[in-house]
Amino acid sequence: MPAMTTVFIATGNAHKVEEIRMVLGGPGRLILSQRDAPVRLEPEETGSTFRENARIKALTWATYLAMEVCNLGVQWVLADDSGLEVDALKGAPGVHSARFAALDTGRPGNSPDGENNAKLLRLMAGVAPVLRTARFRCALALTPVLAGADAAAMASATLEFDGTCDGRLLDQPSGAGGFGYDPLFVPEGFDRPFAELGVDVKNRLSHRARALAALGARWDSGLIVPTGRRP
Ligand code: IMP
Repeated sequence: MPAMTTVFIATGNAHKVEEIRMVLGGPGRLILSQRDAPVRLEPEETGSTFRENARIKALTWATYLAMEVCNLGVQWVLADDSGLEVDALKGAPGVHSARFAALDTGRPGNSPDGENNAKLLRLMAGVAPVLRTARFRCALALTPVLAGADAAAMASATLEFDGTCDGRLLDQPSGAGGFGYDPLFVPEGFDRPFAELGVDVKNRLSHRARALAALGARWDSGLIVPTGRRP
């Protein structure tokens, strides 16, 4: 029987965890998430790109988990940073997708999805259908938990994967599935938003699914060897 590889998903977003678990989980892989950790770490996402923010999250958790006392048997930390780029808004909300509405109020932390969607619709009011193009982007950072190693060693061993999903924005929300901007985003080749298409379709073609496919291919090629020491 192959050895179990334990991957820790460094996100507090339960929807992301579920999507990642569905794609990445399986025999030989145990997927843990922040809910399994005894602490709450909330690294500040100060990066100007999705990749930078994904690295910040992965490294913060890998550094914590590398401390012998709190290692949950985790060998890899996987962090996702993602968001929506709208062409008519010159790429906004981009890395600010989770706190798009709060940018106006100065409130700390993320904004409720409904408020972000309402702001997006307000800014897009009157924009013609042909100009309502947008894309989701996802950056994944996969960091080995190296017991006894410093953050710099784990940073240089971090692997990055990207995925994008092109589409267009509706002029009103529709559907109850998914999260975030899913009720507004219609992926290319479809006429309904992710929130209506369901998780099976989303997990075939979303930005996250594509980044995970790239990670999975790398993993399956045998290049990824768990290097973290088990407790
Ligand atoms: P993060 O957790 O800092 O990466 O912020 C991601 C934000 O981007 C979420 O709060 C959503 O607003 C948006 N987002 C990312 N991925 C998706 C998705 O798959 N569907 C809908 N919105 C998404």
